[in-house]
Amino acid sequence: MSSVLITGASRGIGAATARLFAREGWNVAVNYSRSRSEAEELARELSGLGVRAVPIQADVSDPERAEGLVREAEEALGGLDAVVCGAGIALPQQLLTNTTAEQWRRLMSVDLDGMFYTLKAAIPGLVRRKRGSIVTVSSMWGLTGGSCEAPYSAAKAGAIGLTKALAKELGPSNIRVNCVAPGVIDTDMNGHLTAEDLVALEEETPLGRIGTPEEAAQAICFLASDRASFITGQVLQVDGGMVI
Ligand code: NAP
Repeated sequence: MSSVLITGASRGIGAATARLFAREGWNVAVNYSRSRSEAEELARELSGLGVRAVPIQADVSDPERAEGLVREAEEALGGLDAVVCGAGIALPQQLLTNTTAEQWRRLMSVDLDGMFYTLKAAIPGLVRRKRGSIVTVSSMWGLTGGSCEAPYSAAKAGAIGLTKALAKELGPSNIRVNCVAPGVIDTDMNGHLTAEDLVALEEETPLGRIGTPEEAAQAICFLASDRASFITGQVLQVDGGMVI
């Protein structure tokens, strides 16, 4: 049975990804930072599917906690076959000139540093086993840049650079590294959007709607699985055609 650690798995895309992995028979480490009851409830739900599922608290922006997260996941699941870096936050939309240094640092520390800390801790175990896959979660803004989303765009572009560099670095160890870049997905992260905002976004999207967490999860699970065994260093957009 294969095992996966998913950061930011308590809600949204990460939770949908955890459900999909479990349905496909994977053991799952469900990382959360603050949403303890959601993560515990999700782990119970996944255990009901006959897989091992463990909730693990860790703020991935804290290097010691990120390392502890990986160690706890490896111990609980008997090693890891895949790591999904999905933990992320967004800032209120604002001009870069109105962004404080603290906001910039917080965004970077969760969305980019958190990937570094998690992967730095997880890669040695994957290399020892000479197999494995990593999926990072970026965003369409990491590809195109979003006005009034500069820190988020910078972090998500960083995730793409990290993915490509690691794909080259880890390919010889039989470890694949890919990235999913979602468009607008229906999660709490977009809870601030008004009905008018949503209509405008839907009109901008060739498929005429926003995406579901399950649709992003399908791409993540595909890239993590052996179905993508000859794919590495790629960015798979799940955005209804918003960015073509
Ligand atoms: P969400 O519903 O707000 O969920 C965010 C998840 O990240 C939660 O599980 C949260 O856990 C976790 N998280 C936040 N800070 C954390 C930290 N410091 N340490 C560990 N976990 C942390 O967001 P989402 O829409 O599912 O987003 C998931 C990923 O997709 C993010 O990387 C986001 O940038 C990316 N994305 C989303 C969209 C979209 O339209 N929704 C589009 C493009 C990319 P707690 O609740 O426990 O804190």
